[in-house]
Amino acid sequence: MNTPDSSKKRPMSQIASRCEDMKIDVKRPKLERLDAEPMLLLPPFRQTPGPITVSQTYVRKTNSGALGGRSEGLRAWELTIEEKEVTAPSMENHDVGNSFSPLRRSWSNSFDADEANLAAPKSRRVTVEDVADEGEVVEGGGRYFQQCSDAGWTLREGETEFERYRKYKEGMGEDEWAPFCDEEEWGLAEWLVKSLGQTRTDEFLKLPITQNRMQPSFHNNRSFLKKVDELPHGATWSCKKISVQGNRTDEKGEPLHEDVELWMCNPVECIKDLIGNPLFKDHMVYTPAHWWCDMQKKLPVGATIAPIILATDKTCLSQFRGDKSAYPVYLSIGNIAKEKRRQTSARATVLIGYLPSGKLDCFTPDEHSLASYRLFHHCMSLLLQPLVAAGEDSVEMVCADSLIRRVYLILAAYVADFPEQCLVACCKENRCLKCVVAADERGNPLDSPMREPAVIKGILEKRKTGHHPAEFEEFGLRTVYAPFWANLPHSNIFLAFTPDLLHQLHKGIFKDHLVKWCLDIVGEEEMDARFKAMPDYPGLRHFKKGISMVKQWTGTEHKEMQRVFLGLLAGAVPSQVLVVARAILDFSYYAQLQVHSTESLNGLESALAIFHANKAILQELNVREHFNIPKLHQLSHYVQSILLFGATDGFNSELPERLHINFAKEVYRASNKRDYEEQMALWLQRQEAVFLRGSYLKWLLEWSQSAPTNFTHCDRGYDSDSDSDSEMEGPDAVPVNTLPILPEQQTVHFLAKTPAYPQRSVQHLVTAHGASMFLPALKLFLRNHMPHAIITPGLQDHFDIFRQVVITAPPNPLVSESPRQWRVRAMPEVLPGRGRKPGSPAKFDMALISNGIQLRTLEGMRVGQVCVIFTLPCQFGTYSRALAYIEWFTPLREPDRSSGLHHVSRSTRRLHRNAAVIHVDEIARPCHLIPKMGQAVDHGWTSANVYELASDFYLNTFIDLDTFCMSAID
Ligand SMILES: [Zn+2]
Repeated sequence: MNTPDSSKKRPMSQIASRCEDMKIDVKRPKLERLDAEPMLLLPPFRQTPGPITVSQTYVRKTNSGALGGRSEGLRAWELTIEEKEVTAPSMENHDVGNSFSPLRRSWSNSFDADEANLAAPKSRRVTVEDVADEGEVVEGGGRYFQQCSDAGWTLREGETEFERYRKYKEGMGEDEWAPFCDEEEWGLAEWLVKSLGQTRTDEFLKLPITQNRMQPSFHNNRSFLKKVDELPHGATWSCKKISVQGNRTDEKGEPLHEDVELWMCNPVECIKDLIGNPLFKDHMVYTPAHWWCDMQKKLPVGATIAPIILATDKTCLSQFRGDKSAYPVYLSIGNIAKEKRRQTSARATVLIGYLPSGKLDCFTPDEHSLASYRLFHHCMSLLLQPLVAAGEDSVEMVCADSLIRRVYLILAAYVADFPEQCLVACCKENRCLKCVVAADERGNPLDSPMREPAVIKGILEKRKTGHHPAEFEEFGLRTVYAPFWANLPHSNIFLAFTPDLLHQLHKGIFKDHLVKWCLDIVGEEEMDARFKAMPDYPGLRHFKKGISMVKQWTGTEHKEMQRVFLGLLAGAVPSQVLVVARAILDFSYYAQLQVHSTESLNGLESALAIFHANKAILQELNVREHFNIPKLHQLSHYVQSILLFGATDGFNSELPERLHINFAKEVYRASNKRDYEEQMALWLQRQEAVFLRGSYLKWLLEWSQSAPTNFTHCDRGYDSDSDSDSEMEGPDAVPVNTLPILPEQQTVHFLAKTPAYPQRSVQHLVTAHGASMFLPALKLFLRNHMPHAIITPGLQDHFDIFRQVVITAPPNPLVSESPRQWRVRAMPEVLPGRGRKPGSPAKFDMALISNGIQLRTLEGMRVGQVCVIFTLPCQFGTYSRALAYIEWFTPLREPDRSSGLHHVSRSTRRLHRNAAVIHVDEIARPCHLIPKMGQAVDHGWTSANVYELASDFYLNTFIDLDTFCMSAID
């Protein structure tokens, strides 16, 4: 009997001979065309049993009742769907068998028998890899973990597809670049497939310069594709042709048809690829978070759940050929940490299908939308069909850690915009798609019962058979009788809808509502003037012309406005409106945190409660008649969603690079039209194959480097004195504190290696930097820090001046995994140079200053304006730390009752500004002050002069999430 260990140390000869066997076994998937089976749809009550895939009938009331006039009649039309399948395209060049080595099934099959013998079953429990703390907050993925020891058991050891493939190639004596000559040729191949269509590729390869100087091992598109087809590919693409029968007829009275295409690959195969991708090994979780724990109880002991995250995006329409377009369906699994899921390059989210997006002209206009809803559900059912069995019975899968687990595939989350969520939920757009709150109650803070899939399914079924259950109207349902989620085991589609911050909060409640209400109260002109007067801050967008003229709003602009909105509003609106605005902003900021605690969830809940308690003011001011706003109601489901699935940012993931479907048009032109589907599926598969090879090579590199080697430190530094505002990084910068540095754990301050303005006079500092108290402040500093210095500074001294200090601090896990990095600038005005060189206004940033830096709270922080960053000339003695001349503001007072913002003003001493020289490393981070603008802002204030002209300010705690946390979370 073999032990699992012996499987790892199989002799090379054995591998080679097994590979030989395998070659014989390899059968490429054969292309099969299924003849279209015409399908009949029957009117209600006359359904016949039989192999009918879809049978949707439709009876509904015309909406004449509400409008009055027309009589209430029954109308019926049928969504007749005729399906034809084009499956797994075969590789066109059948003569490359001796080097073709699919990663997929043919491999698994040839090994399976052996595997069972080699690896003795082993019940091993795996615990959550990244659970660190005892508390309920865990950084890994921002999930709540209740460790379930009854989950994620392993059955035995296995090998990931990458490992198998590596061994196979070794056995074959092939290098990693084969079938391409070397790394460079592989790079060319990758580029050709991802960036050029087939015609262009052919043209490119036939260019004399390509043939004569590059001399690739392929000389035209055909021989190139032959090589590409030798690469193992991922899940197989196939196409289903669907013929939809409409309710319109042609001149002969025959019903009109429209043909649409559904492109798909098997989601179970895609999940196998994801869960078994060794590149995700360190980012995987097999034991449950909150949602999984509830689910786990319904499954056998030791089961592993792959919580499926689906996303559809109708706005991403792709052109297939002249008259056909489609929209993509994406899939990921919650086992992969959200940081990985978010990286589009990691391809932790994959494309599993293209849904048809036909015009459906065969339907009368009033039936268009319903027909498209039904078609959507029908196509999704077909696409997700393999998940029914995989959720019920589970599938054994080799996971990224090479261990085999019994995995249940369960739809957990669905990411889409609101209209598309309604489409999925089969519910009208004036309803909540999670709970059954009445249409006119959505403005109130209620706790309505959640929608239950089984109940909704039951109502739809009743309706289908001609009944009129009262709940159908009450719940605002649509007559989609066969929702795709109805048969997916264990899934609850209504819980699966995740918060959509962009549409619900940033664009919805903030921009479309709050900003509009405030504009009504304040007036456009005043609002614009307030935006214009906003002081500068590194990276902050300045709305130079105000906001009323902005035509195109994007998510970025909404967020930029939120950074300054509250402070800007203070004084211009009644204090209760300010409370409402603050509640919305608080909610928005809490909702954006990456990790939640009881405190932050309480923060979310109380922000919403404060909003509801104060919103009546808007009715009193006649800016709002009611609060029956769907997006507002959605906010009441955020806490539930975060508790189930973790922080909202896990579901706002950027969608991955799409396959270059637009090349399909070219495929169509080049094909003899009949073989179009086959060609197209092949095209998709080739692109997947190239992506897969890219991942494999990346893994191989990591794998080969995982052997211990000498660790090399990479140098990091900042050319903080670079001319450009935005440039942060550069080769030659030195940290100003000389302690040994571990940038990941400490706050570090960087100055440029050489000063931007060497040897500037004191007079210059007074005039260009406004440092009027420079000499007295420096004298005081020297008295305190260098009591033995003989020389006192005077007008004759010169100083090396730096433009800015760059500060890096360890990550704030509530906000991001990346280290924090800021700039604090002390730059005098630059006059326009000769020629076209533009000038720039002076920038003396505000900063939080503390001599014992902790960046968790505002405690011990005081605001100062940084005017000069300099080093001490050697005549005063050696002093290793860089210095800054700052002007103090008053200590932070108790926050304002309505806005919650701290009030500060310039600090003075004997009629002069209260200035000091401090160590640069006492600057904790930059901060932003917003002047108190009063009811009407002074029109003379601009972004450049307002720090000088205004006297009272608010410390802007909304400038970024990090500052928000300092002020809101202890
Ligand atoms: Zn609801």
